[in-house]
Amino acid sequence: MKTKVDVLVIGAGPSGTIAAAILHKAGLSVQVVEKMKFPRFVIGESLLPRCMEALEEAELLDAVLKNKFQRKTGAKFVWGEKICDFKFSQQYTKGWDHAYQVQRADFDKALADACQEKGIDIAYETEVIDVKIQTGGTSVTTVKTKEGATHLIHAKFIVDGSGYGRVLPTLFGLNKASTQYTRKAVFAHIEDPHRHETDEPDEPDRITICVHNLNTWIWVIPFSTGTTSLGFVGSPDFFDGFSGSLSEQYQQMIASEKTFKNRFRDLKLIWNEPRILQGWSTTTDTFFGNGFVLTGNVTEFLDPVFSSGVTLAAVSAQKAAHLVIKHFKGEPVDWQNEYVKYMQTGIDVFRTFVNRWYDGTLFKIFFAKNPNEDVQNKICSVLAGYVWDDTNPFVVKSDKTVCAFAKYIELEKQ
Ligand SMILES: Cc1cc2nc3c(=O)[nH]c(=O)nc-3n(C[C@H](O)[C@H](O)[C@H](O)COP(=O)(O)OP(=O)(O)OC[C@H]3O[C@@H](n4cnc5c(N)ncnc54)[C@H](O)[C@@H]3O)c2cc1C
Repeated sequence: MKTKVDVLVIGAGPSGTIAAAILHKAGLSVQVVEKMKFPRFVIGESLLPRCMEALEEAELLDAVLKNKFQRKTGAKFVWGEKICDFKFSQQYTKGWDHAYQVQRADFDKALADACQEKGIDIAYETEVIDVKIQTGGTSVTTVKTKEGATHLIHAKFIVDGSGYGRVLPTLFGLNKASTQYTRKAVFAHIEDPHRHETDEPDEPDRITICVHNLNTWIWVIPFSTGTTSLGFVGSPDFFDGFSGSLSEQYQQMIASEKTFKNRFRDLKLIWNEPRILQGWSTTTDTFFGNGFVLTGNVTEFLDPVFSSGVTLAAVSAQKAAHLVIKHFKGEPVDWQNEYVKYMQTGIDVFRTFVNRWYDGTLFKIFFAKNPNEDVQNKICSVLAGYVWDDTNPFVVKSDKTVCAFAKYIELEKQ
């Protein structure tokens, strides 16, 4: 482990490794510190096409391709008999037409291993426990190894990609409750032997989001190994309606959804038990400070419904790395405008989509009887993560456009 570096990166999730790879490529000395031993589980398995651009710039694409993850070409939304199938090849913005559905333990390890192959030091099972920023922005970070030994790392700059760990916001008292409603997820990896009995032969090529009821939805993310990630997301009281062990409750949830009842009959869990996550939306007052920048989930994570998490992590890492490089070149960086404003623009488009999903407005557009192709293509670009395309009205005036179009569909019906 290096104890004197240009940049200390906290966390070896996608935001940490993408930032580290871009900084290393620019010639800066980088030390990554990761609390866990890899591979480790983390949720966030459905990637978006925009994420591929960040991986490409970080020269981490080969590592992804080597793993033969499931290619993802779109996102399908199902509500009873109604289906809305977005294909990234038919999106409005010019960009990648695919992404991947990944087991994050393997995906994150692949990125981290590729970083190490490039010569980037990653200290695993080493946790950041304290950070002191000095005048001028240099810092002294205390890390603790699994054996309990502590070390000091002197860095000229810190990139905090610690995800749900929220290291710097927690140490510096910057955490803020999110305005997003508290939701809960119950999910598992399962065997999926009946996958190919469905009517759609290319079905594993995309995530399926199924409306279970107005407040609850289900994700189905098929992996290339033949197994599938299946999760329920809803308000916490939805989950009170089931009884028995967590596995039994999960089976009951699946049996209660007509769309999947048959496909997931005689369901077998790959894990001992499903997992639970709740109340994941936290935010912070600031995304940067003297000598540090926050990336990925540490900035804000909204909701899983549109699979935006890893993509926002990747783009923030890419953007932050560019600005850190600029800083090291001695050029002035306007972090508020060049970083926070940029990231907030994309986050706010997803915020609109998340909020308009849960209040039902988007259902009117997604499940309209006669979908408008141009509108579908523009929405598809948002769902592909191209949330900075200022020629797309669903990006620039996101909320106004979504609401106006939903209203138009309502009027057309009358
Ligand atoms: C229910 C649910 C479903 C989701 N589904 C999707 C999805 O389908 N697609 C998607 O894109 N996103 C999804 N997400 C979001 C996704 O999980 C995150 O957005 C993504 O993992 C963020 O990446 P990151 O690199 O910022 O952080 P992480 O992937 O969390 O990585 C952070 C790393 O920092 C390390 N760390 C933490 N504390 C410390 C410390 N003190 N010292 C050193 N290291 C530390 C951690 O061990 C971890 O390895 C979902 C989220 C939830 C809650």
